[in-house]
Amino acid sequence: MPEMRVGEESRPIMCAIASNLQAVRARIAATGKSPAVQLLAVSKTFPAEAVREAVAAGQTAFGENYVQEGIAKIAALADLRSQLTWHFIGPLQSNKTRQVAEFFDWVHTVDRLKIAQRLAEQRPTHLPSLNICLQINISGEPSKSGLAPQEAAALAAQIAALPHLQLRGLMAIPAPADTPAAQRLPFAAMRQLFEQIRQQLGSPAFDTLSMGMSADLEAAILEGATLIRVGTAIFGTRPHA
Ligand SMILES: *Cc1c(COP(=O)(O)O)cnc(C)c1O
Repeated sequence: MPEMRVGEESRPIMCAIASNLQAVRARIAATGKSPAVQLLAVSKTFPAEAVREAVAAGQTAFGENYVQEGIAKIAALADLRSQLTWHFIGPLQSNKTRQVAEFFDWVHTVDRLKIAQRLAEQRPTHLPSLNICLQINISGEPSKSGLAPQEAAALAAQIAALPHLQLRGLMAIPAPADTPAAQRLPFAAMRQLFEQIRQQLGSPAFDTLSMGMSADLEAAILEGATLIRVGTAIFGTRPHA
């Protein structure tokens, strides 16, 4: 095999990102609900250069799971900052809230008042409000983060009253299911909960239902997802997936 110069070997991967994005957009279009759905590209474990390639292919919203990795990538892509929206979608501990409040635009994984209060206090006042989704443990898995569905309305009311935050909606990662029909059940339950809380809050800003990933995005969209979080189908298989 001829020797390759640095940079050349990553080219095929980069081309793949653009065509993968096209394929994901086609999957979204095939549901017939494209206008209602925002695509979040989950770039965790992939380098800033991969994000840059996705941006070149028209993608502007990115999700990160780990605070240090996310902040390093946001810094490496500082030249694109004004074009991009960065979503924090990983588990969030109290000692990391300041960095998230300072660097991200969205947090999808709030499941306790204490975390929301810290984000509200720590959000720099020169920045727009931090967009918040409540993470719901919709499949009731004991080991998973997220609050129980029956606790969501009360927490939503409390968070809606905090300054420097904008409560935007709900997020869930249901337990994996084998068939499309089984995939749709927890998404349908999320949609119901979302509508109920939206009515209760009476806030037009509560407009986001974050659900659906590479394996189940169609099921999520058909049940009313407004934002799908897609990693593998765009960037490829993660090293530790
Ligand atoms: C990693 C991750 C995704 C993307 O999952 P894929 O199956 O790679 O599409 C979506 N949401 C969250 C919260 C994640 O951690």
